[in-house]
Amino acid sequence: MNKLIVSMLLTGCTALPAAAPHPFVPLPAPSAKLEVCWIDTGGVSVPGGYGAGGATIAEQWEVTAAAILIRHPKGDLLLDTGISPTAAEEHRELGGWARFVFSQTAGRNLPRRRLSEALAALGATSPLAVLLSHAHADHAGGLTDLPAVPVWLAAEERALVESELEQPRGVVLPAHARAMAERLVSLSFEPVPFANYDSSYDVFGDGSVVVVPTFGHTPGSVATFVNGAGGQRFVHVGDLINLQESLSRGVGKSWLMRKFTDEDDAATQAQVAKLVQLQATEPGLVILPAHDRPAFVRLFGEDNGRLPPCR
Ligand SMILES: [Zn+2]
Repeated sequence: MNKLIVSMLLTGCTALPAAAPHPFVPLPAPSAKLEVCWIDTGGVSVPGGYGAGGATIAEQWEVTAAAILIRHPKGDLLLDTGISPTAAEEHRELGGWARFVFSQTAGRNLPRRRLSEALAALGATSPLAVLLSHAHADHAGGLTDLPAVPVWLAAEERALVESELEQPRGVVLPAHARAMAERLVSLSFEPVPFANYDSSYDVFGDGSVVVVPTFGHTPGSVATFVNGAGGQRFVHVGDLINLQESLSRGVGKSWLMRKFTDEDDAATQAQVAKLVQLQATEPGLVILPAHDRPAFVRLFGEDNGRLPPCR
């Protein structure tokens, strides 16, 4: 019984709002040849109730702090960079509460792969850019390991990073804000509908990598559709949800994760409702939460410790 009460407190399940009916623009037929690789920079295993609201199907939430390398004929693009190899030192700059929140969230991840070494092993040492789903420590941490690569992010996320430089709140680790300060490039979303979103940014102009605004978890958090001729077809949704099962169960993240990590709870829940709508419209599309390790394994295969898995 105690376990049940604790689990209810952790997960406190609030029903999602229904997403308003929305026109749908189907994903284009893939034309670009891509190779897409999963770099598991770190992770941890925690009870499933930390990941999603209500009674979870997954007993454990197996976490990956992932970087995704997208190899396009026009160049390599990194989607997120995972955790920093020196996060343990970097987090000491944080104030007491921010340090506690970090220790309960991104700081739980233990290092697995160093991003620069993984990229060298894959022969991808000069990416065009890093595209950040958002600037939290478990997504931007690897930037300290890639000093010269431009950092693409939504203008709203850029404003967050710049405000953290002036007045640190700990939403972004100060070391990460400094590491990216001189190389921030704002994404220019166009009023071009894509899937069930009103605006989008087509990175290569061929529909293979398309970014949409999904603001809420942070002021400028984004989702990225990947659609390659080799059958790579998924949408990376950052931290809108933690487990794929959130979609079939129609729930957001756990109460704890929402309180600790969502800057705007109502906006985040509205974005999760849009994901439920997207999945209902495109049942075959893989919706990939940034930290759902089993979902990465289903998409890329197991990481056997040699080269990062690619498809
Ligand atoms: Zn995260």
